[in-house]
Amino acid sequence: MNNYECRTCGKCCRRFTMIAIFKEDVERWINESRNDILEKLKFAGDEKQPIIEAWFNPKTRREYIYCPFLKKKGSDWSCSIHKTKPKMCRDYICRKYKK
Ligand code: SF4
Repeated sequence: MNNYECRTCGKCCRRFTMIAIFKEDVERWINESRNDILEKLKFAGDEKQPIIEAWFNPKTRREYIYCPFLKKKGSDWSCSIHKTKPKMCRDYICRKYKK
């Protein structure tokens, strides 16, 4: 468990320009029927070494400027897919607020 308190400043999410997606993320989203998430991925590499990246606009296939699941409410930012967010996001430790 990460030993820090998130201040909901949204800076880390806005800083991520490219998120590495793991196979376990894709499998979870398939099981959860999260097509709204799956459609924003880009698959590259090959079967032996797949490369999965996020987030891409499904209509234009262009990369989003920042995560489309980041939402602002007042001065706070939050993740609208918090319960199923990518492993990379879950493992991220905001050192600025580490206790
Ligand atoms: S998926 Fe959630 S935690 Fe990850 S960058 Fe987007 S808003 Fe932040």
